[in-house]
Amino acid sequence: MFTKILIANRGEIACRVAATARRLGVRTVAVFSDADATARHVSLCDEAVRLGPAPARESYLRGDRIIEIALATGAQAIHPGYGFLSENADFAEACAKAGVAFIGPPAAAIRAMGSKSEAKALMEKAKVPLVPGFHGADQDPAFLRREADRIGYPVLIKASAGGGGKGMRVVTSSAEFADALASCKREAAASFGDDRVLVEKYLERPRHIEIQVFSDAHGGALYLFERDCSVQRRHQKVIEEAPAPGMSAERRKAMGEAAVAAARAVGYVGAGTVEFIATADITTAAGHFYFMEMNTRLQVEHPVTEMITGHDLVEWQLRVACGEPLPVQQDALKIHGHAIEARIYAENPDKGFLPAIGRVSHMALPAAVEFQRNADGEAFHDPAPVRIDAGVRAGDAISPHYDPMIAKLIVWGATREHALARMRGALAETHIVGLANNVDFLGRLVANHSFAIAQLDTGLIERERATLFPNEDKLPNEFLALACARVLADEATAVGADPWSRRNGWRLNGAYTRELTFKSERGVHDVKIDYARDSHARDGYHFEHGGLRTPLVIQPAPAGAAPSRLTLLLADRTLHADVVRHVDKAGDDLHVFLGGRHRALTLVDIIAHAGEGEAAEGRLSAPMPGKVIAVSATKGARVARGTPLLVMEAMKMEHTIVAPADGVVEEVLFGVGEQVAEGAALVQFTPAT
Ligand code: ADP
Ligand code: ADP
Ligand code: MG
Repeated sequence: MFTKILIANRGEIACRVAATARRLGVRTVAVFSDADATARHVSLCDEAVRLGPAPARESYLRGDRIIEIALATGAQAIHPGYGFLSENADFAEACAKAGVAFIGPPAAAIRAMGSKSEAKALMEKAKVPLVPGFHGADQDPAFLRREADRIGYPVLIKASAGGGGKGMRVVTSSAEFADALASCKREAAASFGDDRVLVEKYLERPRHIEIQVFSDAHGGALYLFERDCSVQRRHQKVIEEAPAPGMSAERRKAMGEAAVAAARAVGYVGAGTVEFIATADITTAAGHFYFMEMNTRLQVEHPVTEMITGHDLVEWQLRVACGEPLPVQQDALKIHGHAIEARIYAENPDKGFLPAIGRVSHMALPAAVEFQRNADGEAFHDPAPVRIDAGVRAGDAISPHYDPMIAKLIVWGATREHALARMRGALAETHIVGLANNVDFLGRLVANHSFAIAQLDTGLIERERATLFPNEDKLPNEFLALACARVLADEATAVGADPWSRRNGWRLNGAYTRELTFKSERGVHDVKIDYARDSHARDGYHFEHGGLRTPLVIQPAPAGAAPSRLTLLLADRTLHADVVRHVDKAGDDLHVFLGGRHRALTLVDIIAHAGEGEAAEGRLSAPMPGKVIAVSATKGARVARGTPLLVMEAMKMEHTIVAPADGVVEEVLFGVGEQVAEGAALVQFTPAT
């Protein structure tokens, strides 16, 4: 085994590789760009070396620098992860030339599979079934159109060098072909520096089923069964699972053997994935499957295979790269239970899955157990029920430079139903604040009926739009009640138990009344909270919204509960939720997580808006009881609109009262340290006319 390896990647996959290396006692060297100097992968490795500025071509794509660093640090091998240099044959060759092992297939195998057209030609020879189409060298537009006419519409034009779901056009008629071809070629040239395309039959409602293969340098080759990656958006995977629902043992064997034949045809060594597209009736004898492409690397979704087989594929990669034979034979592999992976991305599903950037200000993930092993460290009883492969921690940023993945959530269950139930629970416990993300969407996806009964095909998300993108025109009341409860609970902790010492309400005929205003995507919400002076227990309130008055009780948090945890009695319902409060210059935000749904509310700070509309009356008053903690206005001063006059402290926060207009300070009515009642005039002010 190697004693030290360099991990030429970032994010979750770099962390993932480092975890196995550590378990095997292999030391690790991380590389990082300026954007990643404090990233999680850097902290998980034994050493870390800077590559360069943030853009990938100046950092993670600098193969020359990476090899230099491997040599300088004494790393014997380089693990490329996925993306970046993982499918770069020149880099694999340069590693070999420098005497550093490339943990991946030989350069020739990468090259053979690098072009989808050439790969299809090779597969034809190896008798692997292909999607009917044209994958030759002739790129004359008129010729390609005749080929498309011959194949029959709809057809798919694909960039030969494509990847990541880019460079594909569906064409439904001969008349559209020329324009689609031109646009596909433009995208292919821009994204991959190569405008060659292939044309194939576009299958309707197909399934994406891929086979994990593994080969060693001694002629050993096997398959670790299949993964179903049919749930996609923009031809990119969202949810992957293993095994593929409904697969018969015979079909599995046929696809596995076809995949091994594909690997053997190119002299493959290491981990690889042969992607097939299958007709929706693949679960019956009438179904068909066709070779689509081979990914010559470890795949994003490899953990589901690890869970159902009990083997660590990164460990296998390391062993095979240093010349060991495959650790087991085909016959020894068994499928154990069912695993599902959900990709958590910084993206906005409601806006066409547009990638998002920003900082993760809060992240709570379900409790995860990494690998559960027997004492001998080899096989296991049951895999971890929940596994999280994350490259990002709370406080880290998702930058525009790289893939916007936040984490992968992987669950295991004895059956698909069990795994699905765990996935629903795990997603409900996944709370991410700070940037747009797809967690809510994933929650709806795994709850979707078609998905639950495994009616899988690549059109599922589009077809199920109505349930996956529900129209919510009103903010559900319980979210509002929970946001109020967080505000009240925070004040109670800050101020203490004696209601008369609290500043959070004012007395009116023996009762406290409180008005709170929140904003959400659904509009402005005015809420009234009140409680009797001496009747209720200390946290018994009435919550009033939209003319409805509901009793509300905040239950004390159990010892050891997360600070965000809240349990409420709202009328006759008990709500267990997490409410994360995030206060910064931009506002006071309350993120309510309830039953797998996340709604964000902003508390409208009425003190910050104090004075608006009051200027005409010639006074500025305190809309909340509090204490004056600083005075900067002086009598007679001429001030411009927005000049800070006085600072109050109320509701645990400081609030600056500013001049509502250009004008003159006539009189400051309170000094530092003085308590002010709600409505008390603070400053006598004359606006300039
Ligand atoms: P998988 O098939 O393993 O799920 P994806 O297609 O989701 O892989 O891509 C995995 C990662 O590799 C992503 O970060 C993606 O950006 C990157 N990637 C895949 N193919 C290419 C390519 N041809 N060029 C650049 N990056 C790619
Ligand atoms: P990439 O290199 O971007 O991963 P693939 O060739 O693997 O490209 O295709 C990506 C996805 O596009 C597939 O998973 C599938 O959803 C869709 N697709 C590809 N080929 C076809 C086809 N012939 N018919 C229908 N859908 C296809
Ligand atoms: Mg693919």
